[in-house]
Amino acid sequence: MNDDKLNILKILDRITYLLELKGENVFKINAFRKAYGTISGVEDDLYSMYENGGLAQLPGIGKGILSVIADYYSMGYSNALRELEAEVPAGLIEINSIRGLGPKKAVMLYYDYEITDLSILEAYCVSGEITKIKGFTQATADKLLENIRVYKLNKTQLRLDGASVLINQIEEVLSGISEIQLFSVTGAFRRAMEVIPKIEFVLFTEEPLRVAGILSEKLNIQDFEFDSELHFQGVYNIFFYLTLSRTDYFKRLYETTGSKEFLLKFPFPAVDGDNNYANQGKSALTTNRAVNDDNIATGGNTTLPANKVLNDNNTAAGGNTALPANKVDAEKTKPEIPSEKEIFDKIGIRYIIPEMREEQILSRLEDERFLNSDLVLSAFKGSLHFHTNYSDGANTLSEMVSAAAAIGYEYFAVCDHGKAAFQAGGMSETRVFQQKEEIDKVAEEHNVKIFRGLEADILRDGSLDFGDDFLNNFDFVVASIHSRYALDKEEMTKRILKAVENPHTDVLGHPSGRILLERPEFEADFKKIIDACRANDVAIEINASPYRLDLDWRRVYYARDKGCIFSINPDAHSTSQLLNVKYGIMAARKGGMKCSEVINCFTLEEFNNFLGRK
Ligand SMILES: [Zn+2]
Ligand SMILES: [Zn+2]
Repeated sequence: MNDDKLNILKILDRITYLLELKGENVFKINAFRKAYGTISGVEDDLYSMYENGGLAQLPGIGKGILSVIADYYSMGYSNALRELEAEVPAGLIEINSIRGLGPKKAVMLYYDYEITDLSILEAYCVSGEITKIKGFTQATADKLLENIRVYKLNKTQLRLDGASVLINQIEEVLSGISEIQLFSVTGAFRRAMEVIPKIEFVLFTEEPLRVAGILSEKLNIQDFEFDSELHFQGVYNIFFYLTLSRTDYFKRLYETTGSKEFLLKFPFPAVDGDNNYANQGKSALTTNRAVNDDNIATGGNTTLPANKVLNDNNTAAGGNTALPANKVDAEKTKPEIPSEKEIFDKIGIRYIIPEMREEQILSRLEDERFLNSDLVLSAFKGSLHFHTNYSDGANTLSEMVSAAAAIGYEYFAVCDHGKAAFQAGGMSETRVFQQKEEIDKVAEEHNVKIFRGLEADILRDGSLDFGDDFLNNFDFVVASIHSRYALDKEEMTKRILKAVENPHTDVLGHPSGRILLERPEFEADFKKIIDACRANDVAIEINASPYRLDLDWRRVYYARDKGCIFSINPDAHSTSQLLNVKYGIMAARKGGMKCSEVINCFTLEEFNNFLGRK
């Protein structure tokens, strides 16, 4: 999806959110929701459609929405959004961000009880004062305190989707600076961690001062304000590590990529003699330190990361101007490291892809199954768990299928929610039959195979929300938990085991229930669950939503040890989310997963065999 469309969707999403907080009437709020769905389904070029008036013809695109879009194309932001942001108090927005409250309660606390910021809310919870307010018990107060703690911790972290947007923008700037000879994103993002605490880049340039100057000019404050307006949560740490030689560049890249445990086991290699890498490393570090320590100091303290970091870099590097030039000359007489591969050769182990440089690989270096992952999007043939407007999806089946086919998928399994998921507009039996007709029609129109899938709800007792007989109407069943997360460990484990043992279950959906930066995994014996998936030939989902990335990659190592199979699904609720599968691929690559273990990479025939396995 192009950036304009993404930005417009983010603006609409933000407006909807703020209208809700403002207590605006429900029709107005729904109008923005509807427009969001319509625009996310637009496949033609949005700008041309806007210009030729085609956009105005679409359902739900009225005058108000058009003026938001007009603003965006003429100014790059939305006046309506700016007005709303000025109108809705920041304290209220922050209180509403605390899990467990929601707009209605947040508004009540803010206006009726003058709880106007987090610290007041915290004080109300600690003192128990909040229990005097209707609807709040000591238990809710304790829960709120925990949620406030998590919120504070997570405020500066990014999920993979937010980090990707920011990183793409920075990469575009970096590619345009001719003085930069090499650059790469590094750190947690390069290692494909599911949550990114800071964004890091390594640069090789022989003109660090110039580069710092250009960067500070190009990544101007406006850009970052614009981003935060588009629903980036608060302030991010962005680091640029400037190195002055190729060798230093790859050393720095290596040392900022691997996890602590990995680097402890395989530090950057030292070689004896004058031309040694270790010495080079040290001298490089001295130079870097002037720049980097500053980065850290500033990065942590400023609300305007890029500009401030870079300005201080200027100053810091400015004090050292004599050093870099000499250093570059000195480097030329030393052997270069032409690539990261060279470093692994020196260490004497096989090359390990960045994603897998984790503690988990250390004990499995000799295990064939844990060679580098070969997973790539182009190997995916089956789009297997997505929603349509038959439950809580924004698009029609036809729209979802053509968008997925455009990505390169060859066969499909629509998996709308079953009847227990009433909060997600789950399908009644009647709707299931209506959808069957639609599936047949769309399959014929597009001349593709569409399987009748279902995302069944795992009920409290482990049964699914349709009975055995009715489940025979489906070719493919993903069984997932969407409620009652607080069962004790034993009961939760039993509940899931029962669902896995159900002969209709093909995939265990988002197995741990976590929402990154919001909700932890529920308690269960995941080893037992993974063992049961293996024993019952049930594929384990790697839910690729950047909010979930569930199963956790750490557990993927255990599951692969046991010989499980997997299903990597975007769980898309609109066409634009289909590509989220790339985040699932990042997480799966982290676990070393191979195409042969992923049912989405099966040919149509292999997938049919999988469905017929029991
Ligand atoms: Zn689900
Ligand atoms: Zn789903």
